[in-house]
Amino acid sequence: MSLRIGLVGLGAIARAQHLPALEQVAGVHLAALASRNATLPDLPCYTDIKALLAAEPDVPAISLCTPPQGRFDQAMAVLRAGRHLMLEKPPGATLSEVEALREEAARRGLSLFATWHSRAAAGVDAARAWVAGQRLRKVVIEWREDVRKWHPGQDWIWQAGGLGVFDPGINALSILTTVLREPVRITSADLLVPEGRQTPIAARLEMRAADVAIQADFDWRETGDELWRIRFETQDSAATLDQGGARFAIDGQVQPVAVASEYATLYAQFRDLVARGESNADFTPLRLVADAFLCAHTQRVAPFVDDSNG
Ligand code: NAP
Repeated sequence: MSLRIGLVGLGAIARAQHLPALEQVAGVHLAALASRNATLPDLPCYTDIKALLAAEPDVPAISLCTPPQGRFDQAMAVLRAGRHLMLEKPPGATLSEVEALREEAARRGLSLFATWHSRAAAGVDAARAWVAGQRLRKVVIEWREDVRKWHPGQDWIWQAGGLGVFDPGINALSILTTVLREPVRITSADLLVPEGRQTPIAARLEMRAADVAIQADFDWRETGDELWRIRFETQDSAATLDQGGARFAIDGQVQPVAVASEYATLYAQFRDLVARGESNADFTPLRLVADAFLCAHTQRVAPFVDDSNG
């Protein structure tokens, strides 16, 4: 039987990715919506999650697409109502929150899926397989995009808990931590925070995984094309994940990879987790971001003015 899913928060990612994936993936379908502002035709729609949960006892699974701040109360309401839960990345605003969700889901025998969509990008499995056979020396991450293009009018990204440039940067960290076998730790972090804002517009990280040196450059001030690239270097070879993980090349030779829809993969995984009574909740990328904030040198930079008409 197809898994009936309630979607919460009809913003940019819900419209661009979740709705099409829910149409596309066999064995799941959209059964209800909770949105403060929007409705969808021919679908039960509610203005908040509590109303949805109360009115739809036969919707066994909920997918949260709201910003990380405030997501905890929604997520707890879902689990306490006995429903399986899929979370957009990042899984929450703090580590304590997400650990509490994991415990609650486990106690109730519910599936918790903390998604990392970039881990489902087409080239990531090939990168992991290549790295497994190499002695890596260095990893260089460049994750640069124009915040005005990708986050127009999104105030929450600049507010405490909104992660700032780590909102895209955590995607790179999610790939890094699934490709490398050794645990990754932050050794230094420099954060550039605009005057009047709470979160960084750029971040430079130094990390290590055993004896592999890792550098990351996250920047929202890119005005050209976005660059979402991770380069894995050995003594005499290098492989590159590009386009956010969609393209994989070894020594400049692009490798064939299956075309993958990240969000179709996520919903298929959620369907299968629920069917098997399992959870998938790895918070490693969020822990690295938290560590970056813990040990950061913070510098104030020019105010950011959002003139993107979002
Ligand atoms: P967004 O465009 O701002 O949409 C978020 C939606 O959440 C809003 O439209 C709103 O939907 C609901 N919401 C509930 N409480 C809110 C609040 N206090 N402030 C703002 N919105 C609130 O954000 P988004 O880009 O879709 O991102 C949502 C989550 O998906 C984030 O965790 C983000 O990291 C993740 N994500 C985003 C992208 C992307 O490219 N945009 C990619 C991957 C993952 P209603 O009006 O329907 O209630």
